[in-house]
Amino acid sequence: MYESVIQDLIEELGQLPGIGPKSAQRIAFHLLDADPEDVKRLAATLVDAKTRVHFCAICFNVTVETECRICADTRRDPAILCVVEESKDVIAIERTREFRGRYHVLGGAISPLAGVGPDQLRIKELLGRLQDGAVTEVIIATDPNLEGEATATYLMRMLMPLGLRVTKLASGLPVGGDLEYADEVTLGRAFEHRTSIGS
Ligand SMILES: [Zn+2]
Repeated sequence: MYESVIQDLIEELGQLPGIGPKSAQRIAFHLLDADPEDVKRLAATLVDAKTRVHFCAICFNVTVETECRICADTRRDPAILCVVEESKDVIAIERTREFRGRYHVLGGAISPLAGVGPDQLRIKELLGRLQDGAVTEVIIATDPNLEGEATATYLMRMLMPLGLRVTKLASGLPVGGDLEYADEVTLGRAFEHRTSIGS
């Protein structure tokens, strides 16, 4: 057992996603060995990002402004809205350069096991954005896993009565994974060959 201050550091790092106990220990000792100025800069960057970054008032993507760069960009097509689970999915889709519309970030996926239902997601806000008729197509781009599929099914039920074109990314994405892990070519192709649902 290390002294408690070191143990605390290892435990904090171990709370981060994808960091197991061994990695947490390795990062902790790396930081303890590092130049104090470098560690101060890292700590300041963490606090700065956490303080300044919040959700876009329109699409709920992360931003430091009131509206994110994509919502503020007048060259983006206001008629097409792509619904994703997380901000990191926006980044993955932007990398493909296949999509010129705007986004709506749900803030997760329906997962009864994790206690996440439709009310915990920004579905009400999505329906609110569709009220004025400016959006004519909604692309559902949830993750190709159980939670993502459950969310897509729920969204389809909510969107079909609105009379818009509702599309879903073409199959071919690695099943069971996250959208963000799909390579650009595969994700780009899934966009290009997206399929209409229902009518
Ligand atoms: Zn936005």
